[in-house]
Amino acid sequence: MNGERLDVDVLVVGGGMSGMTAAARCSQQGMRVLVVEKSPATGGSAKLAEGFVWTAPDMEALIREDPEIDADLGQALVETLPGELGWLRALGVEVRTGLTGILGFGAGSQIDVHAYMARCEGIIESNSGFVVTGVAPVELLQDRKRVTGARVRTPEGDIDVEAENVLLATGGFQADPKLRKQHIHPNADRLLLRSNPFSVGDGLRLALQAGAALSDNMSGFYGCLVPHPLDRELSQTDFTALAQYHSERGILVNRAGVRFCDESLGDRVSAGDVLRQPGSTAVLLADEEVRRRYVLKPFIPGMDQGLDKFEFAGRIGAKFAEALTWSDLARQITDWGFDGQAMLSTVGEYNDQVASGGPFAPARSRHAMALATAPFFALEVQSAITMTYGGIRVDRRGRVLTSASDPVPGLYAIGFDSGGLYHRGYAGGLARAIVTAVLAVEDIASRRVTTAGG
Ligand SMILES: Cc1cc2nc3c(=O)[nH]c(=O)nc-3n(C[C@H](O)[C@H](O)[C@H](O)COP(=O)(O)OP(=O)(O)OC[C@H]3O[C@@H](n4cnc5c(N)ncnc54)[C@H](O)[C@@H]3O)c2cc1C
Repeated sequence: MNGERLDVDVLVVGGGMSGMTAAARCSQQGMRVLVVEKSPATGGSAKLAEGFVWTAPDMEALIREDPEIDADLGQALVETLPGELGWLRALGVEVRTGLTGILGFGAGSQIDVHAYMARCEGIIESNSGFVVTGVAPVELLQDRKRVTGARVRTPEGDIDVEAENVLLATGGFQADPKLRKQHIHPNADRLLLRSNPFSVGDGLRLALQAGAALSDNMSGFYGCLVPHPLDRELSQTDFTALAQYHSERGILVNRAGVRFCDESLGDRVSAGDVLRQPGSTAVLLADEEVRRRYVLKPFIPGMDQGLDKFEFAGRIGAKFAEALTWSDLARQITDWGFDGQAMLSTVGEYNDQVASGGPFAPARSRHAMALATAPFFALEVQSAITMTYGGIRVDRRGRVLTSASDPVPGLYAIGFDSGGLYHRGYAGGLARAIVTAVLAVEDIASRRVTTAGG
């Protein structure tokens, strides 16, 4: 990539799940592709993932998970993914098929993400494309409104890359505390980062400069509850070991000692609710039954085998307490700055509501079981962020849209650079990355055929 100008059919900005998928698909269709990846290696958050490529089996299940989901983008997801699972298999990467019940409702496969990335890179390079790491665009090139490429900063200087189409695939803005604070919540700069550190909203900034609009739901995010306090940044080995996925089986109380959310919607949703509480922490309460049946078991078969996540949290210095009575536990959480007396009433009321079959206040839509088997457990938790749900406004083909909903010609956003699909619920990240990539490439290919055919 020496010289001052380069011409390609497609410039892909970001070499993670969506970017490498799009680049490989374009290459297979004879397009000349350049992938520019800011970090020293391709893979993005996908390389940190367990590799579950899954989503809801149909729209009904998707709407149950996320009643406010963008119906058009959601339909694209559930309709497109099943065919793409076949494509993954055809690439010859290891695929564990036929998984069901993911997060209680999803279906899909598990892939070897590292092998997948290597296979995509092989396809790109064997079709005269390039994957260049350690470089990033500083601005998009535009001819009137059309995006015609990007100025890419390299260690040897800036290069203008002319491209018929530019795909933004930088993975969202979760790694930028300022953007989080601006779009998610005033306390969101405190979120711990549970993703690759390079997704700092570069795609969003480039798109806005080119005339794009923001998507709906800029404040939504996929998160996890993790122990508090922690004396370190989250490392890759912490990502699963510290995630309290089982929080949906216990109850959460805030500093006032009261419940504030429907915990059973899932840890991924409660992470947003905890962020919005005073101090942005909460106490997760559980009993021996919850510990034995859920804390000690992998959340999805194959994950975090055999780890006692409560014991681990206590061992690394988080506020964790175990007691034979709720009163004992109340004294301990009072020392942490939580209202222990109010917590005692909350647990009593919750157990009464379980016994009488509700109603619950706040709601408890699933997993209502009394917390009545000693010993009892309390763990202070805080929120970590994995992905932002808001981003660049797009249509179902990934075309970047202005505030008047007109496409910005030549510009696409895929993966978690494209926003507006999920609101509170979640039905897959890798799947979303693959599907948005595939649909954008289909759109690019159909325009090339139309143009070539006159
Ligand atoms: C610990 C963990 C476990 C997960 N497990 C699962 C799972 O099992 N199933 C699932 O569905 N999802 C999972 N996910 C989520 C999944 O990894 C993401 O949803 C998916 O990778 C998003 O794809 P993407 O292409 O949008 O972003 P990424 O895959 O993160 O790729 C973005 C890429 O863009 C690069 N980049 C950023 N800025 C620039 C720039 N200016 N120029 C060039 N390059 C840039 C980044 O370095 C990165 O390589 C997990 C995530 C994490 C962190």
